[in-house]
Amino acid sequence: MSYNVAIDGPAGAGKSTIAKAVARELNLIYVDTGAMYRAVALYMLREGVDLTDREQVADRCIRADVTIGYEDGVQVVFLNGENVNAFLRAEEVGEAASMISPIPQVRKNMVKLQKSLAAKSDCIMDGRDIGTCVLPGAQRKIYLTASSDVRARRRYEELTAKGESADLQKIKADIEDRDYRDMHREISPLKQADDAVVVDTSDMTVEEVIASVIKLCSRE
Ligand code: C5P
Repeated sequence: MSYNVAIDGPAGAGKSTIAKAVARELNLIYVDTGAMYRAVALYMLREGVDLTDREQVADRCIRADVTIGYEDGVQVVFLNGENVNAFLRAEEVGEAASMISPIPQVRKNMVKLQKSLAAKSDCIMDGRDIGTCVLPGAQRKIYLTASSDVRARRRYEELTAKGESADLQKIKADIEDRDYRDMHREISPLKQADDAVVVDTSDMTVEEVIASVIKLCSRE
């Protein structure tokens, strides 16, 4: 039986940074499930599908074939055979992903793919519904969170460090909108699993969070 760690939490809590570092340290495969929803969202954006038209999104999502590979330990997402990693992190794609992710037809295939990856390999998987829905039997569950102020500030600093212009208030409002959508949707809303350990990173450095999650997730 494979060893599975589930990490859930709101947008911008640092799940992927932490999960990547922990995966390296504990020799686990890192599975970024947000990237899968982003790939479907990218398909819809490229096809010009109206994202508010749930029926159309549900119909068209069968044509977005998302598969996962690993190159030098890095997750590569293929959309209909094309490596789309370079397009997935755009703000617009994240927003679009949170608009289409409540649709059952979109989630069905993603969850199936995620379960099969976890059954095959020892992995750390991050997302919104991993501990509650995708891997309810995961050996370790972490709920990683931080205040929306802190998450917005971190995102703002990330963007300005890259020389991109950013508006702190807008970033905070977008993060809160996304939290609301992810927490209030009907299917698999973002919530802490009963058996998850909460790590609030608001007053922690990245190194402190990594060390504490490694401690929580080691197999001994
Ligand atoms: O984590 P990330 O920001 O890449 O996720 C983008 C969006 O995909 C989230 O806002 C959420 O709506 C959706 N998502 C989801 N379930 C997951 C992972 C992501 O619904 N397991």
